[in-house]
Amino acid sequence: MAQRYSQNGWKAETTARNFTRFQACGEGWWAANDDVAVVFTEFIERFNAEVEPVYQKLLDDWSYANRLIRGSSTVVSNHGSGTAIDINATKHPLGTRTFSAKKLKSMRKIKDGITDDAGRPVLRLGADYTGRPDEMHVEINANPAHVKQAANKIRKKREAPTMDLRTKVTLTDAGARNMTVPGYTPRESGQKLSLEYLVLWGGPGMYRILGKVDQLHAENAALAAQIGALSQAIAALATGSAADVAEAFAQGIADMEAAAASVLQNAVAELDLKLVVDDIADEPAQ
Ligand SMILES: [Zn+2]
Repeated sequence: MAQRYSQNGWKAETTARNFTRFQACGEGWWAANDDVAVVFTEFIERFNAEVEPVYQKLLDDWSYANRLIRGSSTVVSNHGSGTAIDINATKHPLGTRTFSAKKLKSMRKIKDGITDDAGRPVLRLGADYTGRPDEMHVEINANPAHVKQAANKIRKKREAPTMDLRTKVTLTDAGARNMTVPGYTPRESGQKLSLEYLVLWGGPGMYRILGKVDQLHAENAALAAQIGALSQAIAALATGSAADVAEAFAQGIADMEAAAASVLQNAVAELDLKLVVDDIADEPAQ
């Protein structure tokens, strides 16, 4: 007679009535409880993304089955307690080795990433059975308390992250480029900054500074042109005729007045820029 518990110690049921129905990769599955459902969902979805697609059309993905372990006359399969699933069964039949080393490695990585609070995996892969391999098969290999710990870790990971201003974000290439101001420490792709810092300095603050920098460049160019005109006037003093000198100075004096105004403007702009940059310097190191 079959035992009341499946091989892994979970209670076997003769129907799926008390089990949890869950959806993963577009298919419906049974699990012993919500925790097992969360753990299996994590495995199935990652298997689908990292190992191979969970192929839906063949209906070869199984979960609950009220039966004994194949080949045993007494031991209830973990499928009987809602703690085992079979994925892509037709591709990976019982007793055969079908997965590449790379896929096996990926499967073990997923399995090793689903752990209880002590870091112990709560799943076992049929592919890792020392005897007859069962590569389609994945089962719970921990008691309900430890599976709950693993499920809670997954639930926490899946919760929408809380985004307060202290949350650190990673600069993208474009973000780093946009935040780099000539003459200041360059921002680097991958650098971590708080949202608060970005709110203060990643947007309008930086654009304000960039605007000032552009303005200064333009004013410096105008000043350079005027200095050029004055230099010509001085050169004419040494070599030119009286008319050339008079003309050059007339132009030069006008230019000089403009240049003086520009120098003043520049000084104001630079002071303004310095005030803005000083504000940044007050920011705590990021
Ligand atoms: Zn199985």
